[in-house]
Amino acid sequence: MISKSTPIVIVGGGAFGLSTALHLSQDGYSNIAVFEQDDQVPPRFSAANDLNKIVRAEYEDPFYTDLTMQAIAAWKTPLFAPHFHQTGFLHCVSGKASERAVATLKRFQTSAIRHPELHSHVIPLDGENAIREQFWQYDGQFPGWKGYFNRFDGYAHSANALAAVYRETQKAGVRFFLGTQGAVTEVVYEKGQSIGIRTKNGHFHAAGLVIVAAGAAAGKLVPAIGTQVVAKSWSVAHVHLTDEETSALRGIPVTYARDLGFFFEPDPVTQLLKLCPMGGGYVNTDPTTGLSQAPDSLAASAFMPAADEAQIRRLLAQTLPRLAHRPLVQKSLCWFADTSDSDFIIDYVPNTASSVILLSGDSGHGFKMFPLVGRWVKDLLEAPDAQQPVARWRWKQPTSGEAKWGGDVSWRLGATREFRDVKPGQSKL
Ligand SMILES: Cc1cc2nc3c(=O)[nH]c(=O)nc-3n(C[C@H](O)[C@H](O)[C@H](O)COP(=O)(O)OP(=O)(O)OC[C@H]3O[C@@H](n4cnc5c(N)ncnc54)[C@H](O)[C@@H]3O)c2cc1C
Repeated sequence: MISKSTPIVIVGGGAFGLSTALHLSQDGYSNIAVFEQDDQVPPRFSAANDLNKIVRAEYEDPFYTDLTMQAIAAWKTPLFAPHFHQTGFLHCVSGKASERAVATLKRFQTSAIRHPELHSHVIPLDGENAIREQFWQYDGQFPGWKGYFNRFDGYAHSANALAAVYRETQKAGVRFFLGTQGAVTEVVYEKGQSIGIRTKNGHFHAAGLVIVAAGAAAGKLVPAIGTQVVAKSWSVAHVHLTDEETSALRGIPVTYARDLGFFFEPDPVTQLLKLCPMGGGYVNTDPTTGLSQAPDSLAASAFMPAADEAQIRRLLAQTLPRLAHRPLVQKSLCWFADTSDSDFIIDYVPNTASSVILLSGDSGHGFKMFPLVGRWVKDLLEAPDAQQPVARWRWKQPTSGEAKWGGDVSWRLGATREFRDVKPGQSKL
């Protein structure tokens, strides 16, 4: 077990890194430095540098439902509350959804209805009329839609939440190294143990513990994870609304048809309505290593594949048809760290004498846990046997052969595709 004054380096100033800095500093760890490759926090490379992320309590898996119930309680505390918006969650399938989508939706609905604290917040909505009656702002026809509305859920303004925790941790004495001073090129080892990190400007920073919270870039700094963590992306785009349109849509729920994607209440500051088609996502497999890594530049990801665009226009046509043909702006592929079973990885890297922790595998559903993640790192640090107490978050040895792209995860529909096949100008559609 490390002492409270041990120098701790956290690599990555995104959601998991900042949450860790927060919890460890609050718990008395006094020598913490966060290294972030971008020159700003929230970092542009962070999957959480975004207007909003869904915070829904119900999972198909009660383990994550319980955690999200704890997370939502934490979202309601003073540091996080300004960034949590309990607009509710309209969760449905459209009339053309596949059986798999319908079955997934049913499992979510059952999870919400059976939960002792959630069930009174859940309204089943059977058919388009029932949906239209609930939400006066929508003038779409919702053809064949059915599902439920959960008033307990909502979304978080993720970029603002990151900024708040950045300020809080700075106040608590956490040091931040940004840009070339913060871009970590390697974890440095001596005799089977990490002694610190090296940054792009060539500086070495000694540490007794290195926590790698580098999101989709985990494999670059911890290559031993191999195929267990896959850099994957989903696309997002926005409709830029007028002042009046933004105002008129205030309070709409997070609206999700499993087969079409989802959108959020428009952001009052930017007047952007964010849309995400979800689906199987995109990987960027290096043909020589067989491993997927996010492209180095953000510009390479600044587009939305044509099929995704067609899908979110269908979503708008069925819900807010007046927006269905509007220009889409700020399109991008947003990269996250995926695991084949969608479980997080929070564990010591083997053969490092407990000197390196990998905190990764958010699997595209980790932001709702932002107020809690750092506590789980603290629990690992304080585990008497130096063993991750939650078995499913332990390190798993990479398997040989092809990486798994999470296609078995029920809540994702559609095949995972290669980035190179959907890049503008190279689409094989
Ligand atoms: C399109 C999309 C939609 C999503 N929607 C939801 C949602 O609705 N609800 C939800 O709960 N979650 C959602 N997520 C997931 C959520 O964004 C992630 O779970 C969360 O951001 C993971 O945090 P992280 O810290 O692991 O990674 P990130 O937030 O991506 O942060 C990683 C940080 O590490 C830095 N870094 C990387 N390499 C280095 C290096 N070598 N040196 C220094 N810094 C480095 C990066 O610059 C980055 O800032 C979504 C993700 C995507 C992509």
